[in-house]
Amino acid sequence: MGTANVVLARSRVAQPSTAPRRATQGAGFYELTLGDARVAVVSDGWFPFNPPHPTLAANATRDEVEGALDAAFIDPADVRVQVNCLLVRTPRDTVLIDTGTGGAFGATNGKLAENLANLGVRPADVTAVIITHLHGDHMLGLLNGEGKPNFANAEHLVHKDEHDFWAADTHDFSHSRLPMDMLPGFIAGAKKVIAGAGFTLVEGEKEVRPGVTVIPSPGHTAGHVAIQIDGGGGAKNVLLYMSDTVHHPAIQFPHPDWAVMFDANPDLAVASRRKLFDRAAADRVRLSGAHIPFPSIGHIRKQAAAVGKGYDWVPAMWEW
Ligand SMILES: [Zn+2]
Repeated sequence: MGTANVVLARSRVAQPSTAPRRATQGAGFYELTLGDARVAVVSDGWFPFNPPHPTLAANATRDEVEGALDAAFIDPADVRVQVNCLLVRTPRDTVLIDTGTGGAFGATNGKLAENLANLGVRPADVTAVIITHLHGDHMLGLLNGEGKPNFANAEHLVHKDEHDFWAADTHDFSHSRLPMDMLPGFIAGAKKVIAGAGFTLVEGEKEVRPGVTVIPSPGHTAGHVAIQIDGGGGAKNVLLYMSDTVHHPAIQFPHPDWAVMFDANPDLAVASRRKLFDRAAADRVRLSGAHIPFPSIGHIRKQAAAVGKGYDWVPAMWEW
């Protein structure tokens, strides 16, 4: 080996890169093709979720919750919840499903606009916004500082049951384990977005755009919905966006009967979760969710009886 080679090797190690380093991993979007539709999971970032008990499972013990996190190699003292929105581009429409936190939960979230820009999508390009439910991490990114929609050219849609619950003068939280002192903030946030969005209300199960179907999945909130994207050509081109059916993969996949503190009606939320899981497992369609770790695309299968009575999340192969 000559001296020149040694010098070259050293210089390679010693030279710092001049390329700009992004502040976040990747570009914050993950796009795949479903028949005629292009679908992108777009990250809004994440926020800390501590302590995990009782928030993530109000009907389980602290030991059970921390045990489930530990079994998934997650430090119970450092639990993070990711926030993902979904962008659906069909030949006719550009549909955004949920709008993220708007940065309301700290500096690590509110990244939706930046990550849409990375994907080449401007707010003005969006023709429809569907809000799965009126909790802050799904809709506080809808309005700008003046209370006007960020997606100025879009029709805004929400389920009628969801709208009517929050728009009312009184709210039935009698089944919820949410601390009473948190309710005014939830109600004020929902009312503000209702006032600014000018929502079109969706009733029952409805195809609101060709290939984009709103499916009621109540319990987490009164009008919580899942969204089915069908690009045509069979189950391989169907994606079921289940929004807040799962808040943390270490919790509600293996323990679908555990209910988060934020559920308006925990028993109904559990029933809706099981229904959606069974439907997706039987149909073998891909799933995505608001709080499934990025890129939040995968399948679900029932656990073998010897393993447990829950479900396994099977991440899809990354498509380049
Ligand atoms: Zn959520």
